[in-house]
Amino acid sequence: MDKVDVLGVDFDNKSFHQFQNEFIGRINVHQSTFVVTANPEIVLAANENPEFMKILNYDADYITPDGIGIIKAANILGTPLKERVTGYDLFTWLMKLANDRSLRVYLIGAKPNVIHAIQAKIAHEYSDIQLVGAEDGYFKEDLEVIAYQIERAEPDLVFAALGSPRQEQLLALLRRNLLPALMMGVGGSFDVFSG
Ligand code: UDP
Repeated sequence: MDKVDVLGVDFDNKSFHQFQNEFIGRINVHQSTFVVTANPEIVLAANENPEFMKILNYDADYITPDGIGIIKAANILGTPLKERVTGYDLFTWLMKLANDRSLRVYLIGAKPNVIHAIQAKIAHEYSDIQLVGAEDGYFKEDLEVIAYQIERAEPDLVFAALGSPRQEQLLALLRRNLLPALMMGVGGSFDVFSG
């Protein structure tokens, strides 16, 4: 089965390797791509919030099962998913890919000290990345203003760590505007990556 429905959220039934191949194909042709890595909290939140559910099922291009709870639920429903595919693993792999290919990366989210630590880490360990934006997630502007700012930076990859559903709301705006980038919400990944 290509898709597996867990409480109304349509997960892509692909291995980590399959996601990697598809993402590389889309990055190569600058195809606008919005990836949601959905854990049980996201699935439950979407069931309480119809607008969030629409973002997941109509705006997102891919939904990966981020969390053992999703894998277990799919098994119980009799429609198993291939494997757990976490936001953190995809994020670290995409950062390596960005460094190998000198891609343009925009980071938004987490506390100012965390984003500064990531900037330093990129300068030392991922120095071929073109960091075209690094903003913390405690801004006052509306998401529309932030989306415009991201579009003007012409990124290849956008990672948003604002917590859900805010990070997905921001990326859905960019996806609707067909920003030719791969965009992914990464929750607490910046905090881990910065350490
Ligand atoms: N965050 C942010 N702005 C906010 C609230 C949260 O940038 O207004 C960041 C927070 O610093 C953390 C990330 O969002 O780096 C994920 O937050 P949280 O762990 O609460 O969300 P979850 O991963 O559980 O969705």
